Amino acid sequence: MGLDRRSFLKSCAVVTATAITPATTARAADDKRVLPPEAIGLLYDSTLCIGCKACVVACKKANDLAPDTHYVGDGLYDAPDGLNEHTKTVIQLHKTDDEMSFVKKQCMHCVDPACVNACMIGALKKEADTGLVWWRSDRCVGCRYCQVACPFQVPKFEWTKRVPKIVKCELCRHRLAKGGQPACSEVCPRQAVIFGKTKELLATARARVESDPARYNPEIYGDTELGATQCLYLAGKDVSFAELGFHHSQEEAVPLTQRTVQHGVYQGFVAPAALYVALAFVMFRNRQPATGPEQNEKGE
Ligand code: SF4
Ligand code: SF4
Ligand code: SF4
Repeated sequence: MGLDRRSFLKSCAVVTATAITPATTARAADDKRVLPPEAIGLLYDSTLCIGCKACVVACKKANDLAPDTHYVGDGLYDAPDGLNEHTKTVIQLHKTDDEMSFVKKQCMHCVDPACVNACMIGALKKEADTGLVWWRSDRCVGCRYCQVACPFQVPKFEWTKRVPKIVKCELCRHRLAKGGQPACSEVCPRQAVIFGKTKELLATARARVESDPARYNPEIYGDTELGATQCLYLAGKDVSFAELGFHHSQEEAVPLTQRTVQHGVYQGFVAPAALYVALAFVMFRNRQPATGPEQNEKGE
């Protein structure tokens, strides 16, 4: 009994799916990344922030970044409204008729960073011990895959420079190397942003929520979202993290999904082999001389 093209392709799809599914499940468990042993980060508490932007100014100064000027009245004012190639951290305002809340944005130092996963030549590096994510100028080829991959839109490219850099918060690693702390946490007059070991920051965040449930949203953003992040966030009771611009709530890290699919597809090379066989079959079919109803009236 012959096998027609549709049946054959269907069989290939079944073989591929059968090969991928168990491998996918196994890999998902194997590949989940965990918090590095000495993981460090920031805890930002939006209920304490007064929007003074001292952190933004200190960040620029500590990282030698140019002002991001807007024309205000008679003069220019350094007032970034988002992360850009001159701005590694920014304070934004969420406001409705009933409530108002500031939010600080910078790199989240993800436990499983999409930027690192996307960079094919290792120009973005996650430190094995502290987990901070930084950019290596000696390796970067300027492809900007990291910029596209980051679910928080953090890395920025210096479009106007002849030798452009990728600009993102690196947790002030140059200051940490000298025994200091990040500039933003050092200057904050309200301790709305504090620096420390991520495990301790998480314990602090949990203690604040438990001790004052009427003040806080019970969620701690970064505890589980997108595979967890080393920078954590607290929000006010009536403020959702989506309102503060954090739109991802799923627990699986973006790179985990990508690795799972890639590893599943190439596991044992069954799926590519099935695809090649299917393509060969289609080519073979298309090369058969036309017969029967496909002949014209003259029999040509
Ligand atoms: S927030 Fe973006 S740039 Fe920062 S570590 Fe995560 S993926 Fe990378
Ligand atoms: S850790 Fe340093 S680079 Fe990152 S936001 Fe704070 S001051 Fe800026
Ligand atoms: S310095 Fe502190 S209080 Fe001022 S805007 Fe930054 S995080 Fe908020």
